[in-house]
Amino acid sequence: MTTTTFASVSPLDGRVVGTHPVHGADEVAAAVARARAAAPVWRGLGFSGRKRVLHAWRRAIVADLDGLIDTVRAETGKPRGDARLEILLALDHLSWSAAHARRTLRRRRVASGVLMLNQASSLGYVPYGVVGVIGPWNYPVFTPMGSLAYALAAGNAVVFKPSEYTPGVGVWLQRAFVRAGGPADAFSVVTGFGETGAALCRAGVGKIAFTGSTATGKAVMAACAETLTPVVIEAGGKDALLVDEDADLDAAAEAAVWGAYSNAGQTCIGIERVYAHTAIYDRFVAAVAERTAELRAGADEAARLGPLTMPRQADVVRSHVADALARGAVLRVGPVPADGSTLQPVLLTDVDERSSAVRDETFGPTLVVNRVASMDEAVEKANAVRYGLSGAVFSKRRGRDLALRLRGGMIAINAVIAFAAVPALPFGGVGDSGFGRIHGADGLREFTYPQALTRQR
Ligand code: NAP
Repeated sequence: MTTTTFASVSPLDGRVVGTHPVHGADEVAAAVARARAAAPVWRGLGFSGRKRVLHAWRRAIVADLDGLIDTVRAETGKPRGDARLEILLALDHLSWSAAHARRTLRRRRVASGVLMLNQASSLGYVPYGVVGVIGPWNYPVFTPMGSLAYALAAGNAVVFKPSEYTPGVGVWLQRAFVRAGGPADAFSVVTGFGETGAALCRAGVGKIAFTGSTATGKAVMAACAETLTPVVIEAGGKDALLVDEDADLDAAAEAAVWGAYSNAGQTCIGIERVYAHTAIYDRFVAAVAERTAELRAGADEAARLGPLTMPRQADVVRSHVADALARGAVLRVGPVPADGSTLQPVLLTDVDERSSAVRDETFGPTLVVNRVASMDEAVEKANAVRYGLSGAVFSKRRGRDLALRLRGGMIAINAVIAFAAVPALPFGGVGDSGFGRIHGADGLREFTYPQALTRQR
């Protein structure tokens, strides 16, 4: 029996916007047991039956889009435009996974080996049964949807643990699924703090899809190692944008500002560093500074940046900026207020490469722009962090060449973050950004295991 609850508090005004149970190990185990019972029924619907439900789920979300936008805004503090964008992108993934599951995962014949011509062989993809999805708060619809929709389309039941900051969004999505005719136990939600997620890792599910910080990702792996539960880890980033001497500077500045400050910088694939060629450095910095100075953070509807969702993240931002300034960085736009979690955007230049603002994920509205003498130096510096999530290049002549030299799972050329809007492309990173892939055909296969069949004729 659930004994305790916790409040979901809006970063906009400190108002309690929901109260949710803290599900302990017993409740998580019970949810997983119900999901295990529901899994064969859900799988038994076949690709077309599940596609019908997933499309109905999409329609149910669209029918109350404003309700979901309000819930996302209330729990994260992000502007309505940012909330709408993440939901629309998530809906694209929902449609794509439903539409492509059959063609990606259906059993197909494979050629026999030359020594085994009297055999007929085929390869199929089998869902794990129950998948546990653990999600972050920064994109509480878009990010988990990259696992939820793909795991469900592949034929798994799912137990979802949303972040403690956005439980209401998780519950909203689950209720819309049930309204759409989805079986309640095929997609259920458990709420609570870190222990709830930890319990899910130990509950004997077939796979865990984790999205969150690198440190928690390691804890998830350690817990899953006890039972050899396979994992997908989508963790943090420190993504860089490279600006070449021939780049379209207006477009590059616009993209840098959007990549750095949208969602108040709380974006795993956001731009936290720029390496700009010395030939255009001063003009580029001026263009970025002009645009950055026009942005305003606040809790009102007109603000382009909301308050930070997780108040303690403001201290990380403050410490990174202080460390950079202590090492000689130039503050072009700022400063960070000494207290509170509504942070105006900060632009730093000439930042020592040893600074935490260059090496560690800041996850707030700050951008570092550094000068490089060559694009070789830019590539080298971009790749010199332990993360490897995404990256971007602005260049007219050698965008592709530079992009292919960047270490990361997703690279944009003459754009930033654009790959996230292409459902067919796999999403994920290397190094401290994690491993495994969500989205696209790789994302569908991630929630299955390959099963070989060989029959003697
Ligand atoms: P987080 O603190 O690591 O939490 C992520 C999720 O893990 C939450 O639901 C959290 O629950 C849960 N959790 C905490 N401790 C756990 C444990 N021991 N075992 C299992 N689950 C546990 O991350 P966050 O602050 O929510 O999100 C921000 C981070 O996510 C950033 O680093 C960002 O870069 C990363 N991110 C990555 C991607 C990507 O696709 N690569 C996308 C979005 C965000 P509680 O809420 O109760 O702590």
